[in-house]
Amino acid sequence: MIYDTIVIGAGIAGCSVAHFLKQKNQKVLLVDKEGIASGGSGAAGAFLSPKIGVSSPLKDLTDDAFNFTIDFYEKNFPKHYHKTGVIRVPKDELDASKTSKYSKFHNAKYEELTSSQISKYGFDVKYNSTLFFDGGTCDAKEMCAELVKDIDFLCFDVKDITRKDDVWMVGEKKAKNIVLSTGFENNLFDMRYMGIKGTWGNRGDFSSQLKLDVSLHEKLSISVNMGGVIKLGATHELEVADIKPCDDSKAYELLEKASNMIDTSDFKLIKTYCGMRSGSRDFSPVVGKVIDAHRMFEYPSILDGRKYPTIYHENLYILNGLGARGFVLAPYLANELAKLIVDEKPIDKRADSDRLFWNWVRKIRYG
Ligand SMILES: Cc1cc2nc3c(=O)[nH]c(=O)nc-3n(C[C@H](O)[C@H](O)[C@H](O)COP(=O)(O)OP(=O)(O)OC[C@H]3O[C@@H](n4cnc5c(N)ncnc54)[C@H](O)[C@@H]3O)c2cc1C
Repeated sequence: MIYDTIVIGAGIAGCSVAHFLKQKNQKVLLVDKEGIASGGSGAAGAFLSPKIGVSSPLKDLTDDAFNFTIDFYEKNFPKHYHKTGVIRVPKDELDASKTSKYSKFHNAKYEELTSSQISKYGFDVKYNSTLFFDGGTCDAKEMCAELVKDIDFLCFDVKDITRKDDVWMVGEKKAKNIVLSTGFENNLFDMRYMGIKGTWGNRGDFSSQLKLDVSLHEKLSISVNMGGVIKLGATHELEVADIKPCDDSKAYELLEKASNMIDTSDFKLIKTYCGMRSGSRDFSPVVGKVIDAHRMFEYPSILDGRKYPTIYHENLYILNGLGARGFVLAPYLANELAKLIVDEKPIDKRADSDRLFWNWVRKIRYG
């Protein structure tokens, strides 16, 4: 049997692509070395809120993805998306001074709240902040599993992929197309031009009776109380090279930070999660075809700034670099990628991975 597509990596990126390809009647096989949502996606607090700031390609992309994804989760997986509202608190005085400047760029339902209004929700914060009504949080693992519940899945570590007679081989399995959604690990191809690297993060789930009906994001995220459980999460440790075991002391660090904003006196740690999220060289997502960098460098004067037609690896695609917003961006971008693979519709330019190749060439050229 030849699959239409094998998706490698079953985080929120791979699960979303597999889902949208299946919606387009493709025969899909999903592969992961450790199981569904075993990487960064399983560790995520999975909060969803729009990006705050002035208009930019990344902000506008994130906001479009936010509106698409909320609608998608609510219609298809209402059990695992909790529309709690998210209060976005400025991280410092400078940030706070820009709150009203940024408001004209919001592209989602919101209300500005004073710190005394926020205290009625149970939070003690210094600055006036913004409540996004449609924001909320997903059950990370359950959402990934639901997305692919009717899709063939195999658990093995893909060591390499090969192509023969127009067919890709992944172990014993064959497919017309491959999608790489392997998160921060990128050993299957030369993808240096994308500059994918990992940022480490931690989450602690605590039992508590504290009444919290709205989620909040400052330097860390605090969820509503769902059946006696409150999630605290953050991803900030840059340039961590390797996966390390989860460490309860990190969850207690989150608890200490949270105690500046909420009453944590009855909090008891239930479980610590940790994982890596991946970001690209320019912090925007990478979606689309994979460029054959080696063949591109055979062009005689590519380093002199001449543009040549792009050469891609045949039928090889990627969805990666989702940063701190995988649960916001993945469904929107997976839908884009499915349209490219099945209908040959061009990818949303703001996420197209080609941009990174030409930036990389320019970087090499100028040292
Ligand atoms: C602590 C923490 C909190 C976070 N909080 C939020 C949040 O609140 N909101 C939000 O939107 N995002 C959040 N994120 C970010 C979000 O988790 C990431 O953006 C998301 O996980 C990226 O998904 P992914 O599918 O690209 O990568 P991953 O989830 O890392 O998936 C990659 C998968 O590929 C598999 N794999 C890799 N190589 C191979 C191979 N050779 N063979 C087979 N399988 C392979 C891995 O096992 C893994 O399962 C958080 C992340 C962390 C760590």
